[in-house]
Amino acid sequence: MEQPKITYEQLLNDNEELQLQLEEANDTIEAIRTGQIDALVVNDGDGHQLYTLKTADQTYRVFIQKMNEGAVTVNREGLILYSNSRFATMVGMPLEKTIGLTFDIFIAPESRDIYDEVIANAWEEDCKEEILLINTDKNRIPCLLSCNTLELDEGLSLSLILTDLSILKETEKQLKIKNLQLAAAHLATERLNNQLEDTVKERTNELLLSRERFKYLANNIPQMTWTNLPNGEVDYYNEQWYNYTGLSQEESKKSGWESVLYPDDFQTTMDRFSSSLQSGEVFEVENRYKRGFDGAYRWHLNRAVPMRNEKNEIVFWVGTATDIEDQKREMDRKDEFIGIASHELKTPLTSLKGYLQLISSYKRDELPAAVKQYIEKANISINKLQRLINDLLDVSKIQAGKLEYAFSKVNLTELIQACVENAAHIHPESNFIVRDGHNYTVQGNSERLEQVLMNLINNAVKYSPQNKDVIIQTSTDNDNVRVTITDFGIGLSAAQIDRIFERFYRVEDKKYMTSGLGMGLYISAEIIDYHNGQIGVQSEQGKGSTFYFELPLWKV
Ligand code: ADP
Repeated sequence: MEQPKITYEQLLNDNEELQLQLEEANDTIEAIRTGQIDALVVNDGDGHQLYTLKTADQTYRVFIQKMNEGAVTVNREGLILYSNSRFATMVGMPLEKTIGLTFDIFIAPESRDIYDEVIANAWEEDCKEEILLINTDKNRIPCLLSCNTLELDEGLSLSLILTDLSILKETEKQLKIKNLQLAAAHLATERLNNQLEDTVKERTNELLLSRERFKYLANNIPQMTWTNLPNGEVDYYNEQWYNYTGLSQEESKKSGWESVLYPDDFQTTMDRFSSSLQSGEVFEVENRYKRGFDGAYRWHLNRAVPMRNEKNEIVFWVGTATDIEDQKREMDRKDEFIGIASHELKTPLTSLKGYLQLISSYKRDELPAAVKQYIEKANISINKLQRLINDLLDVSKIQAGKLEYAFSKVNLTELIQACVENAAHIHPESNFIVRDGHNYTVQGNSERLEQVLMNLINNAVKYSPQNKDVIIQTSTDNDNVRVTITDFGIGLSAAQIDRIFERFYRVEDKKYMTSGLGMGLYISAEIIDYHNGQIGVQSEQGKGSTFYFELPLWKV
């Protein structure tokens, strides 16, 4: 039989018709899926029939479509009958492609056994289990699989709900890490704590030991010692204090120094101490303390040094009182001896000088030159001896408070000039430079001031073995005249500067052994003090010294 001929136009029309039908069918499927319709009328040749969808509950379909869990329906063979878009997103596949696939291809191999077991059970009863899904990128997604049986037209099927546990698992993992970190931190803190405890124990022991050591030391030195708080309050006395003063702890705390200090020494001691408390400088004073058992006052040298913290704040003061009574007596005896000896020496020396003068003038012209020279040399030695004896006498007079002399108007500039001329005569190898020739007049004793000047100039020469320059300079500030004597010699250290004005003090330097008794500066300081002036020195070891004194200018 011959087939009717189909034209191209007919084919185009058929195609268009079929295209329309396909679009209509797709729309219908989408409408069913999204729950926009729950019934449809189908023309199946026997007329129109109304098909209602068995699960036609729009609310539930929308709910399933939109829910956050993956939802899949599988039949007995494990084929996917239905899936929502969340499941499609989870496995990374377009939604329409998931239908008809076997569900187990989305199960990670390591979860396969559990999955099989769960599914086998699920047909009997509802069950849940954690499994790993695998997506098209081969990534694992941890999920909670909940299975329920479902009565459908096609027969019994399984509804699988898949809850993505990735965030939960990640959070759990993070939590675990945090917990581990926390445990590690806890352990470290515990360890630190233990270490700290050990250190504290160790330090406490050290402290105890050092306190004991301090007490032991303090109680076994011959001096009395104490400590003061920064405000001066005494918070500790050693045993020697209690033994010597005979005071109890209570009494010491109440009246302390006040009750044992010799009344005449009390004010000086207190003044010096409060000035040290204010300035933070070392406290030093000589005073007399009453001995408890016999009431005798004995001389003591008191010193207190401040202990500072790293911020340089005073934490406490450590004080000591050394019994110098015996030394004082020795010194007195020595002074007495020096006084007597120098006095005794003075008389024969004066006669010696007189006889020498007689010899030198006796038949002067007939004296051979050699004898004249001997007489000259003897005179120099006698003068030296006389200066020495005079110094010794001065020292003992100062000690006895009897170095007194009259004042008159003194032209200091002329006096300096005369001293420099004299010095140039004695030390021809030195180079004396005098600066500022103004006429300065002071009220004083010319001989005594000359004694000071000569002592300072002689020292400048004596303690400058290399550089022979000595500069003598005068200057004034309104009321005072200042005289400085500068040398470029061996200089002095700060510690030496502190002591050079003391009686009989000499720097013990084997390199520069020179003759002297350490009296010159002591006497000079007394003389300047007597003139209401000031004396001092600025010096650097190895560079030289500048000694100076200041005197009030003569006022008309
Ligand atoms: P003396 O010179 O007889 O020893 P002084 O009382 O004059 O006694 O001086 C005391 C000490 O001071 C000296 O022994 C010396 O060590 C030191 N001295 C004095 N003048 C100077 C100086 N110009 N340079 C360095 N040291 C000096």
